[in-house]
Amino acid sequence: MLDLKRQYEPLQKELLEALGHVLQTQQFILGEQVGRFEKSAAAHLGVAHAIGCSSGTDALWLALAAAGVGQGVTVVTTPFSFFASVSSILRAGGAAVLADIDPATFNLSPQSVEQVLEGPNGNSVRAILPVHLYGQCADWTAFGRIGRERGLKLIEDAAQAWSAEWEGTKAGGLGDIAAFSFYPTKNMSAAGDAGMVTTNSDELAERVRMLRQHGMRRRYYHDEIGWNTRMDGFQGAILDVKMRYIDGWSHARRTVARRYHALFHASGLAEAGPYPSHGIVLPHEVAGSRHVWHQYVIRTRRRDALRDFLAIRQIGSEIYYPLPLHLQDALKSLGYSDGSFPEAERAAHEVLALPIFPELREDEQQTVVNAIAEFLS
Ligand SMILES: *Cc1c(COP(=O)(O)O)cnc(C)c1O
Repeated sequence: MLDLKRQYEPLQKELLEALGHVLQTQQFILGEQVGRFEKSAAAHLGVAHAIGCSSGTDALWLALAAAGVGQGVTVVTTPFSFFASVSSILRAGGAAVLADIDPATFNLSPQSVEQVLEGPNGNSVRAILPVHLYGQCADWTAFGRIGRERGLKLIEDAAQAWSAEWEGTKAGGLGDIAAFSFYPTKNMSAAGDAGMVTTNSDELAERVRMLRQHGMRRRYYHDEIGWNTRMDGFQGAILDVKMRYIDGWSHARRTVARRYHALFHASGLAEAGPYPSHGIVLPHEVAGSRHVWHQYVIRTRRRDALRDFLAIRQIGSEIYYPLPLHLQDALKSLGYSDGSFPEAERAAHEVLALPIFPELREDEQQTVVNAIAEFLS
């Protein structure tokens, strides 16, 4: 599914030197290396501020808290994402309302969000939190318009979308504020937990910096209840090295995705979506968007049987995500039930993520496609 050693081996010397520098300087929390990474990340993403923190989950919480989400504030997001997209809203003290996804991209549907905004909960909504799922931006033409027209804050969950673009603007600079994750399996990955908040607003950036250090603007004077969500020096050092390679890796992921497309089309298995009948529906890149292929996710009807079949042949695959968030035990209090979001529920039964990483070879991809063809025949 993912072989991180293929990325590590050629970088070993550089990474060990960077870690050695942290030990030499003893700057273990924030410090020089984190500062350098923050600067290069901001330049790379084309944003005014990039603020390192301890995880993607904390980045979401920081972004929401800085944007004023708290008691009495409702945020609309998607039921088809990682748990943190919703739990962070609740941790910030806000209320979460969900809207269904677009079956062609698996991203939050702007039409569904507009229905929620017109509905009984609509008036309490102050922000929208679209997730750029699998490495492709949510429809920002629509969300940008909805945000402007209704005066709503737009908060990006860009955890899976480092270097993804919407009409030439990179994820992280599309909304008012954004959250990234550098969890080891993400496109841009640390050697442990790490995350980042980005924004073009000086005011929001200042609030994020304050909240990531216990609400302190001056040492030991606490203006608000913040938390300890700082990035550590080792993670900053690792990420700063990887900044030199990330463009090449994104490019390589796009090549791998194109090869899957070509191999699946050549095998005759590909069908037009959004729903599968007897073959598989391939993921696609929306016009105007630059997909960075954090995941390559197909749809198929006999998904669980296919997954078992691949596992026997030692071919990795994953289901992101098997149970939509509105059906999770921990989120029962949101008040939804089976049938509340039919597109998310159907996707949860049909999606399968195939192996994808920059170093994946064409012969390995051919093996994956051949196995799927064998199963479907
Ligand atoms: C990974 C991920 C997160 C959480 O990031 P962590 O660094 O694991 O805390 C949040 N949202 C999405 C969509 C993710 O994929």
